Amino acid sequence: MSTATAETKTQALPANTYKPKGMLIGGKWVESASGARITIENPGKRTAVAEVPRAGEADVNAAVAAAERAFPAWKNVVPRERGKILLKIAEVLEARSEEMARTIALETGNALRTQARGEAKLAADIFRYFGGLGSELKGETVPLGEHVLSYTRREPLGIVGAIIPWNAPVMLGALKIAPALCAGNVLVMKAAEDAPMAVLLMADICQEFLPPGVLNVLTGYGAECGGPLANHPKIAKLSFTGSTEVGKVIMRAAAERIVPVSLELGGKSPSIVYPDADEDWAVDGIINAMRFTRQSQSCTAGSRMFLHEDIFDSFLKKLEKKTTALKIGDPLDEASDIGSIINNKQYSKVCKYVEDGLARSDAKLVFGGLPPKTGPLSEGYFTMPTVFADRSNDWRLAREEIFGPVLVAIRWSDEAEAIRMANDSHYGLAAYVWTHDIGKGLRAAHAIESGWVQVNQGGGQTPGMSYGGYKQSGLGREFSLEGMLDSFTQRKSVTVNLAV
Ligand code: NAD
Repeated sequence: MSTATAETKTQALPANTYKPKGMLIGGKWVESASGARITIENPGKRTAVAEVPRAGEADVNAAVAAAERAFPAWKNVVPRERGKILLKIAEVLEARSEEMARTIALETGNALRTQARGEAKLAADIFRYFGGLGSELKGETVPLGEHVLSYTRREPLGIVGAIIPWNAPVMLGALKIAPALCAGNVLVMKAAEDAPMAVLLMADICQEFLPPGVLNVLTGYGAECGGPLANHPKIAKLSFTGSTEVGKVIMRAAAERIVPVSLELGGKSPSIVYPDADEDWAVDGIINAMRFTRQSQSCTAGSRMFLHEDIFDSFLKKLEKKTTALKIGDPLDEASDIGSIINNKQYSKVCKYVEDGLARSDAKLVFGGLPPKTGPLSEGYFTMPTVFADRSNDWRLAREEIFGPVLVAIRWSDEAEAIRMANDSHYGLAAYVWTHDIGKGLRAAHAIESGWVQVNQGGGQTPGMSYGGYKQSGLGREFSLEGMLDSFTQRKSVTVNLAV
């Protein structure tokens, strides 16, 4: 839930940020049927900055009806032409990327320089990548005998219902819009209640080039708006990114009507550091993999660090020196490396985990701790990068997704034991391995139960790679050609007897 309250102070929109015009239904900017609105907060200052409509079931029905009207014509646009439209959208996304980045920083708390600018550019690249794939929506011929012609067609599914979270709203929204539309589907997407503004800007750019109803974007709360969307009888496919807990709700809704579902869910990703790793390189990489500069509000955050006993102490010293040199502050300030947590609820959750760690006599606080209660950092939801050591993989802090900058460091001496601990999680989204011995690195990469393993780097996703989770981290793949084909098309076989 958005946490802006009646006591929240208001602030004028900062320069070059997007002012929402409503939600997008059938090519028009509209209010919710009930007239209710959601207040959007700047988490870096705890001030209200904008309002968006609070959609409910009636709005979901209107958006689905608009999408239904748009589908017959859109599915028959030649795929290459649909791709060209996405390429035009990519150009405008790129041209307006500074406004996009500033809007992302304003509403998510992600620092402009280190995070938001990269996300805005990546959204343009995602449109560019999928825009080029229209011609790949092809089928195959099947040899069934001399007098038989049998071939397959890739057809769109129809109306896709998409639901996204707040932590990288534009990147995650682009990953639904671009492949679904390229494949000939129409879309009803619900933005996250905490961060809908940049997604509305993306929709505003898209709708300049798209027929009305092809893309509809709703702003609303989870159960109130996402619920009716997930359960709508005309939705042909559900594509969800968010927590594992809500992912299960979405999957149950899909099961009721037997519609396909893709899920990109939570993580508790391990990093394994071998004693032969280049220590400075690995320290920088771990800071990146842990996503400290996005307050670790990332599904791929490497939040469990398995350090070999020979390097345990020296590694933690270097990690402390480099991490504590990062500047925490106003997300829109160019000087800030680290911004703020999204809202009061997440902030309190992160603080509670830190308190739990501090209360354990058998866990050592290496650095960080609870955020200051006074001074500039108390004006927003700022937390401190925090590392706990000296416990094993079996406590809450090593098992639960915190979605905040709390890293646990675990000592190992036996490689098999390190890999066993890395795999001892019901999540399996990302993993990181650090070693100078590439054979060892690949052995570990193959043994780790996770959808994505990086060796000697802790980077983010790139268009073209196949991305998605093992175990309870998800179902299906995004970012790639197979992601588009498997998630957003269905295959039809056509068989013709030529003997008559
Ligand atoms: P969340 O699951 O609480 O919410 C995600 C979206 O689902 C929001 O739009 C929310 O309004 C909606 N929602 C909530 N309850 C719903 C319901 N009952 N019915 C329908 N919709 C509902 O997640 P969050 O807190 O917004 O985001 C953080 C989570 O997302 C983390 O677990 C993170 O790991 C995960 N995530 C995963 C990926 C990935 O690619 N695997 C990427 C980003 C975030």
